[in-house]
Amino acid sequence: MSGIEPLFREEHDAYREAARRFVSEVIAPHAEDWEKARDYPRDLFSKVGTAGFFGAKFSDEWGGTGPDFAAEAVWIEELSRGLTYGTAADLGAHSQLASLYVDRFGDDDLKNRYLRPSIEGSKLGALAITEPGTGSDVNAIVTRARHDGDEWVITGSKVFITNGSWSDYVVLAARTGDDPGHENITLFVVEADSPGFDRARMDLIAWHTSHTGELFLDDVRVPDENRLGDVGSGFRHIMSNFQWERLMMALSAVTLAQLSLETGLAYARERKAFGRPIIGFQVWQHRFADLATRIRTGRALTYRALRLHIAAETGTSVPRAELVRLTSMAKLHTQRLAWQAADECVQVHGGAGALMEYPAQRLWRDTRVGPIGGGTDDIMRNIIAATMGLGAA
Ligand SMILES: Cc1cc2nc3c(=O)[nH]c(=O)nc-3n(C[C@H](O)[C@H](O)[C@H](O)COP(=O)(O)OP(=O)(O)OC[C@H]3O[C@@H](n4cnc5c(N)ncnc54)[C@H](O)[C@@H]3O)c2cc1C
Repeated sequence: MSGIEPLFREEHDAYREAARRFVSEVIAPHAEDWEKARDYPRDLFSKVGTAGFFGAKFSDEWGGTGPDFAAEAVWIEELSRGLTYGTAADLGAHSQLASLYVDRFGDDDLKNRYLRPSIEGSKLGALAITEPGTGSDVNAIVTRARHDGDEWVITGSKVFITNGSWSDYVVLAARTGDDPGHENITLFVVEADSPGFDRARMDLIAWHTSHTGELFLDDVRVPDENRLGDVGSGFRHIMSNFQWERLMMALSAVTLAQLSLETGLAYARERKAFGRPIIGFQVWQHRFADLATRIRTGRALTYRALRLHIAAETGTSVPRAELVRLTSMAKLHTQRLAWQAADECVQVHGGAGALMEYPAQRLWRDTRVGPIGGGTDDIMRNIIAATMGLGAA
């Protein structure tokens, strides 16, 4: 359509082509084996890094090829087609969370030590906010960082840390003062081989290949130069980065919903009942028509939020409330949609939907955690309501 600036330009089409080829050659052929083994080779990170797919949103000063957030969105969409979502989640936690925090809030020294090797894929990162006692209420974290000379001494524990059971470092939120206010939360880059740092892999219903971990810190000493941002700036930084994280989750959820639609349709065309293909029944035509409509709505909403992000990143003044509202709406809409699409996909498979050998079950399990991670549906509703002037987030 003339007059409307396209979201993706010609160079993004070439980038999509390269990303699709990489995922179909390096990831998708192994998805089944990795899922069965509940594991994948750690050197996948260096393969992604060497191919340049960790670099799109970062400046070439640190080894990136950007910043180009539209290219990053392309990578996320293509990666989600690899059908091993735990693997995609680990790669995402490393790049969309840990690396991005270091880029946004770290000084040159931290960027040299952590961002550069993260973009190369030679150093793995994770983001650790959630604790056994609190997730939605970030301000209620109790992990404590005590100042001691030019070091901080950190004690506490974290749970559900994607990529956290094998990462080399974690960007970790800790309380740096006794006052319960959120001006007492600070971020640190903590080396996973520090004395007093222990961890274990968690067993999830979904994301079977993911190295999701619980972390235990017992008087872990962290030098002050590993503090990420000012003392007390952590809560603000977490809230601002949530927007990008939720947008990336929305992009991948739309792709997963589309995959469920395609997978379900392919089966419905093949499988016969009462002498005709399942897709010959109008009830299934309508269900797929509904799904296609909702996926289109989800993509339009998500792309609109992406446009606002790109505009804000490139210096255009964007109303903050609108960016937060659209991102929260996109996250809320697409995470449920992805799971409901996968549920339809399981249903159209009949008994085959209950078999582990079909991909429908994996789509169904893997999309179920979407409405929980990165802020639950209810938290999204609270935020949207607050932007409408209806109570506090
Ligand atoms: C697969 C997965 C990966 C994750 N990865 C990471 C990670 O990499 N790093 C990290 O730090 N965390 C991670 N998390 C944690 C995630 O962010 C939290 O699980 C999530 O924020 C919810 O917190 P919670 O589990 O403590 O639930 P709770 O906060 O205890 O919530 C329980 C229920 O109460 C509801 N509820 C809570 N408060 C309100 C309210 N004010 N109004 C209405 N309802 C409310 C919630 O919606 C939810 O349904 C991950 C979680 C999962 C499942």
